[in-house]
Amino acid sequence: MTLLSFVDVPQQRPYRRLARERRHDFREIYDEFIPDSAVTQASRCSQCGVPFCQIHCPLSNNIPDWLSLTAEGRLEEAYAIASATNTFPEICGRICPHDRLCEGNCVIEKGFESVTIGTIERFITEKAFDNGWVRGPEPACERSQSVGIVGAGPAGLAAADRLRRHGYRVEIYDRHDRAGGLLVYGIPDFKLEKHVVSRRVDLLLEGGVVFHQGTDIGRDLTFADLRTRHDAVLLATGVYKARDIQAPGVGLDGIVPALDYLIASNRRGLGIDVAGPDAAGHRVVVVGGGDTAMDCVRTAVRQGARAVTCLYRRDRDNMPGSQREVSYAIEEGVIFEFLSAPQAFAGDDRVASVKASRMRLGNADSDGRRQPLPVEGTGFGVEATLVLKALGFDPEPVAEMFALDDLETEADGTVKTAGLTGRTSVPGVWAAGDIARGASLVVWAIRDARQAADSIHQDLSGP
Ligand SMILES: Cc1cc2nc3c(=O)[nH]c(=O)nc-3n(C[C@H](O)[C@H](O)[C@H](O)COP(=O)(O)OP(=O)(O)OC[C@H]3O[C@@H](n4cnc5c(N)ncnc54)[C@H](O)[C@@H]3O)c2cc1C
Ligand code: SF4
Repeated sequence: MTLLSFVDVPQQRPYRRLARERRHDFREIYDEFIPDSAVTQASRCSQCGVPFCQIHCPLSNNIPDWLSLTAEGRLEEAYAIASATNTFPEICGRICPHDRLCEGNCVIEKGFESVTIGTIERFITEKAFDNGWVRGPEPACERSQSVGIVGAGPAGLAAADRLRRHGYRVEIYDRHDRAGGLLVYGIPDFKLEKHVVSRRVDLLLEGGVVFHQGTDIGRDLTFADLRTRHDAVLLATGVYKARDIQAPGVGLDGIVPALDYLIASNRRGLGIDVAGPDAAGHRVVVVGGGDTAMDCVRTAVRQGARAVTCLYRRDRDNMPGSQREVSYAIEEGVIFEFLSAPQAFAGDDRVASVKASRMRLGNADSDGRRQPLPVEGTGFGVEATLVLKALGFDPEPVAEMFALDDLETEADGTVKTAGLTGRTSVPGVWAAGDIARGASLVVWAIRDARQAADSIHQDLSGP
């Protein structure tokens, strides 16, 4: 297949299930590309001189090369290139906000619509799984040193993969009953089905990585114990302190943190019988506009909520999450009240309504984001029997949690690291993922973890 076909071939994604069908189940919403379509779509790449897609991919994936190989039908080589820079290409292919990263910076985007990079990355890797080309770590030599990793989210798993390939003994400790972090207990199946994560965990297990699930470091085992067990320790614990709303009535029953709600839903999806909030039959209001809020509104629809409304204090253009996710939520029947924020919650014991007011965007703050300001006299009410608070997350007090007095943190509570190495102020301790970067994206967690793993390797293998 020749390249540069974008002039004649329009952008096409795999079949997206109809909203009326997907409202009733948690399956992923896109089918796989059929091979001919993947080849044709890859051939749309213009092989431009300066690949902005690669520059805007946090992993600097060599996108033009794998697209060119896919267009030629050379999928095994395409996979070799895709997996050289990305530990979990099939996961990023599904859940990266492509519209803000690689695809949003494709030069043919202007006028012709971008190459469907994420979907092709997923396609190549699924074909690699089908054909047995995906291999877990098979170290060429075994080293005597060991590395302990706290947290089995994408950062912990990506670091484990890389360190095990270098030949280290690797042990991961995680407080949950299964590995995956937010990939399993945050992100719902309609974005990322759980078997996609568990087959990666299986490869790590086969490759010799030891998992200690259900082990809370700081409670079941001290951090000091961990340091005596291992030559290096990587902190990959994510950020879990949910930001709260300051408004009268916020303590009423039926107002719950978003992650409690999503964890309960994900556990039920895994067949675990749990009590916990469920949206069936409720009028649901979700407060927030990021990935977590979008996952809540779309989960509530699937659980059979009577109505789902999202209150977001900025406008649609200024939402932090993927615009594509917002449009899927709208297709699925979610009502968006942009430029709106809750001022109070009313009800007897349980919440019955949210009193909100309209907002306008004022001047930009030091982050460059325009600040939302309430508009006087614009109060309105929304009926609500379940309110989900999705305002973002901050780090738990990590130095305190692990009794690590020398661990330096930034003003926002994230762990301070030396440049790209992930090295912390405590000798022998590294950090990667959300705990070092702040609440972010899976692709950044993978990037940081790979770099921290290389820095650990450099240290342990040095003279
Ligand atoms: C609802 C939701 C939806 C999201 N959607 C997307 C998306 O679509 N695309 C995207 O790119 N990103 C998304 N993100 C962000 C993404 O999930 C995170 O950036 C990413 O998971 C961070 O990886 P991590 O490994 O640093 O942390 P986590 O995934 O949070 O993993 C940390 C692990 O550490 C464990 N842990 C913590 N403390 C301890 C302790 N003391 N002892 C033992 N174990 C411990 C936790 O149990 C957890 O398993 C979403 C986040 C949320 C909350
Ligand atoms: S990792 Fe994410 S940003 Fe990079 S090419 Fe894949 S989908 Fe795009």
